[in-house]
Amino acid sequence: MSFGEGKAEDHSLCGEIRSSIRKILAAKHDAQLAAYLLVVVVLSVLAATCWQIWTARQRTLAEIDTNNRNLAQTLNTYAEGVLTQSSMLLLGMAERLEAEGVAPEHLQRIQQLVNRQESLLNQLNELLVVDARGKWLMSSKGRFPTGTSSADRSYFLHHREDASDNVFIGAPIRSRSTGEWVITVSRRFKDGQGRFGGVIVATLGIENFLRLFGKIDIGEHGVIALATTGGLLLVRHPFREQDLGRDFSRSPNFLRHYPSLKFGTASFESSIDGTERLYAFRSNDRYPIFITVAQGRDEALRAWRRHALLTATVVSSLLALITVIGWRLILVIRLRAQAESSLVAAREKLLEANYQLEQLATQDPLTGLANRRRFDDVLKRETKRAAREATPLSLLLIDLDCFKGFNDHYGHVAGDECLKAVSRQLALSAKRPGDLAARYGGEELALVLPSTPAEGAMQVARQLLARIRELGIAHKASSFGCVTASIGVASLQSRQEPEELVEAADRALYRAKTAGRNRAEF
Ligand code: GH3
Ligand code: MG
Ligand code: MG
Repeated sequence: MSFGEGKAEDHSLCGEIRSSIRKILAAKHDAQLAAYLLVVVVLSVLAATCWQIWTARQRTLAEIDTNNRNLAQTLNTYAEGVLTQSSMLLLGMAERLEAEGVAPEHLQRIQQLVNRQESLLNQLNELLVVDARGKWLMSSKGRFPTGTSSADRSYFLHHREDASDNVFIGAPIRSRSTGEWVITVSRRFKDGQGRFGGVIVATLGIENFLRLFGKIDIGEHGVIALATTGGLLLVRHPFREQDLGRDFSRSPNFLRHYPSLKFGTASFESSIDGTERLYAFRSNDRYPIFITVAQGRDEALRAWRRHALLTATVVSSLLALITVIGWRLILVIRLRAQAESSLVAAREKLLEANYQLEQLATQDPLTGLANRRRFDDVLKRETKRAAREATPLSLLLIDLDCFKGFNDHYGHVAGDECLKAVSRQLALSAKRPGDLAARYGGEELALVLPSTPAEGAMQVARQLLARIRELGIAHKASSFGCVTASIGVASLQSRQEPEELVEAADRALYRAKTAGRNRAEF
C-alpha cells in the first residue's frame, strides 16, 4: 500500500463513520419517538375507553331514572283514581247519613246501595259505618257480631278529635270482618244536632294493590311502595307482613330525601333490607300519599357492567398487543443503533491505528519532523504542482556547523538534544500550511517552501540562522562559540526535477560552508 492509497482509504472511512453516527442518532431519535408514540396511543385509548364506559353508565342511570319516574307518575294517577272514587262514595254516604240519620231502615237502604256500587269499585273491600262511640252500625259485608267496635282504630280516634270533613287515610290494619289486610279511607259525619255522629270507612284491600304492582317488571330487587307523606308505609311490593304500617318518618333516608318526594330521584341503601336501590318518587297533589318505584342498583347496572367488562377486556387485550409489538419495534431500533455504535467504535479504532501507522511511516522519531520519505514525496508533489501552476518553489538545506566536534566534545546525547532544539526552530519557520520541515539525514535538515520565490526563501533562511544563534547553545569546538548552521537555498527553475533542486541547494550549502559557515547562500 502506498502512502497515497492509505490517505484515500482513511478519507472514505471518515465519511462512513460520519454517516454511521448520523444513522445512530436517527435510530435513537426514532426509538424515542416510537416510545412516545406508544405511550400516547396507550394513554389515549385508555382515556377514551374510560370515558366511553363512564358515559354509558351515566346514560344507563339516567334511563333508569326516567323509566322509574314515568312508572311512579302512572301509579300515582292510579292511586289517586282509587282514592277519589272512595272519597266520592264516602261523601255521598255522609250526605245521606246526615240527612236521614242512622235508623236501621235507612242503614239497610244504604247497604243495598253500596252493594250495587261495590261492583264498580273493585278495590273496595268493605264499607263500614261506625257510631260516635266506635260501635259498628253497618257493614257492606252484611252480618257482624253485635258489639264489634272500632273505638281503638286510628281513623276513629282521628275523626273523633278532628272536626274537619277531610278524608283520612289510615295505617294498614287487618279487617275485623274479613281478616284481610286493608287500608282505610274514612270520613266523619254529623248527627241531627251537628255533633260528631260517627265515621264512615271504606277499606281498600292491599291484595288488589299488590296484584297490580306484581304485574310490573322492576327486576328481582325492585320495590314499588305506596306511603303517606307522613312516613307511614301503606303497601309494599314485594309484600312482607312486618313492613305494613311501618313508620319511617324518623328514618334518615326519609328525612334526607323528603324534598324529592314531590317528584324526584335518589340512590341509597334501603333501611328495610339494606339493598342499594335507585329510587323515583312521586307525591300526590290531592292526597297526602306518595308512590316509590325503585330498582336494585346492582341489578339495574348489570347489563352495563357486562358490557363495560367486555369492552375493557377487548381494549386491554388490544393495548397489550400494541404494547408488545411497539416495544419489540423499539428494541429492534435500539439494537440496530447499538450495532451501528459498535461498528463506529471499530472503525474509529481502525482510523486511529491507521493514523499511528502513518505517523510511524512519515515522521522522524528523534526530531518529530517529517522523515526523508515524506520529504521526498512532498518535494516531488510540490515540484509537479509548481510546474503545473507556474508558481515558485524554494528549498532550504540546513547543516549544523562543526557538529562532529560538538558530539566529540559534549557527547552524542547532548548532540541529539541540540539537534532537537534546532529542529523546533525549523518547525517554527514552516509557517504556511504547505510548508514542510523535514530531517534530510544525520544533522542535515530541510525546509520546503511552496509558492515562495528566492528572496522570500533567503529571508526565511536568515531568520532561521538568527534563531539558531539565539538558542545560545555553547559550542567550544566552533569558532563562533555557540551552535550555528549553514543553509543552502535553491529555487525551482521551470521543468526542473526535484533531484536537481536538491543538488542546487546542496551546492549552495557547500558554498556557505566554504565561505565560512553560519550563513545562507543561494
Ligand atoms: P561541517 O561544519 O563541515 O558540517 O562539519 P561537521 O562536523 O558538521 O561535518 P559533517 O556535517 O560531515 O558531520 C556530520 C556529523 O554529524 C557526523 C555525526 O557525528 C553527526 N551526526 C549525524 N547524525 C547525528 C545524530 O543523529 N546525532 C548526533 N548526536 N550526531 C549526529
Ligand atoms: Mg553534514
Ligand atoms: Mg555539519
